[in-house]
Amino acid sequence: LHADPRTGAAVKAADRAHVFHSWSAQGLIDPLAVAGAEGSYFWDYDGNRYLDFTSGLVYTNVGYQHPKIVAAIQEQAGKLATFAPAFAVEARSEAARLIAERTPGDLDKIFFTNGGAEAVENAIRMARLHTGRPKVLSAYRSYHGGTATAINVTGDPRRWPSDSGTAGVVHFWGPFLYRSPFYSSTEQEECARALTHLEDTIAFEGPGTIAAVVLETIPGTAGIMPPPPGYLAGVREICDRYGIVFVLDEVMAGFGRTGAWFAADHYDVVPDLLTFAKGVNSGYVPLGGVAISGAIAETFETRPYPGGLTYSGHPLACAAAVATIDAMAEENVVEHAARIGETVLGPGLRELAERHPSVGEVRGLGAFWALDLVRDRATREPLVPYNASGEANAPMAAFAAACKKNGLWPFVNMNRTHAVPACNITEAEAKEGLAALDTALAAADEHTTA
Ligand code: PLP
Repeated sequence: LHADPRTGAAVKAADRAHVFHSWSAQGLIDPLAVAGAEGSYFWDYDGNRYLDFTSGLVYTNVGYQHPKIVAAIQEQAGKLATFAPAFAVEARSEAARLIAERTPGDLDKIFFTNGGAEAVENAIRMARLHTGRPKVLSAYRSYHGGTATAINVTGDPRRWPSDSGTAGVVHFWGPFLYRSPFYSSTEQEECARALTHLEDTIAFEGPGTIAAVVLETIPGTAGIMPPPPGYLAGVREICDRYGIVFVLDEVMAGFGRTGAWFAADHYDVVPDLLTFAKGVNSGYVPLGGVAISGAIAETFETRPYPGGLTYSGHPLACAAAVATIDAMAEENVVEHAARIGETVLGPGLRELAERHPSVGEVRGLGAFWALDLVRDRATREPLVPYNASGEANAPMAAFAAACKKNGLWPFVNMNRTHAVPACNITEAEAKEGLAALDTALAAADEHTTA
């Protein structure tokens, strides 16, 4: 916590002069200058410390500066800092082996990328080449990345400026009982209607034109909506019936986030392709990838795969992945995430919902929770309208400011806040976060109308 405010001012000034930030109107942002981070906390140059309930962008699954990962990166840098992707390299081989051991079913070949969007791009390319079909189906209320195809399959407003008529992407509605697109009143009904809707969409698009259905196992950025029992198994069955490749995007939900190595483990479903990134090495060095089924790998046994990246399987990133997976196994981080969700975060958030009229629904599991904030619990009108900005978004801005004032860095998206701390957050830290949310929710309550 010993940081010089003058350094902070210089860091901020150079940022404002030269750094062009993601997803932002450059003149309207005010990024905090960060001096350091450790575990579940980070701090600025002015003596303020924050409990990070965002895990960066939901990726520091083992927290900041985990000593085993830092040491592994340092060791790899000393041994072999980089090497081209066409060679067999120890860190890359070992990372692929450890990942393939954990991915479900026969997803045993790993194509490494630099992050999640590239993983989605390559999964879709593989599906198109494997099936010889052009189209991809994906869900409204989804996020799959910021690159060309990944942003087209995304179902949030960030897609609109980059929408391309040639992308070959068709969106459909996934299940979401709290804001059901199907007017369902039970999970069973929602599941059945969502599956019928998907099958109707496939029928009207032409089954023979569809390469892939791409879904987040549990949609993350769009609202942490665990699918009803039977939904993913139903999608698997529909894909099998029409020869469609089933892609599960586990970029956010994977590697411990939900209290399992992969969210697919909760639903006993095996996709044909599984995309990952973020938690694979807690984001210490950029890394993502696609885990590939035997059948799809077979397509490229004698036919060259027409895709590649200079840094595919970068040794520093792979060494960080090996150390992360080993540390997660040794420290029981996955089991810990499941337990903290069941015993602290879930009950604690539900208890907040009882006392705060602005909380419409609490959803999630593990270290993966959303509070759906509303103006009115009866009508479920969102606290701010879809895609609101400026004055219309003031209630969420007030909530976020109140969190920060109370030492909590919140994840805020539209009318939701997500409690997505490090998967190894301690019970005491989780309770500290719940207490800060309790205070901050009073600011949201002021905007309820009920
Ligand atoms: N897929 C999902 C489910 C994500 O949550 C994200 C990022 O948030 C991505 C893909 C894109 O990953 P990246 O930002 O590493 O390209």
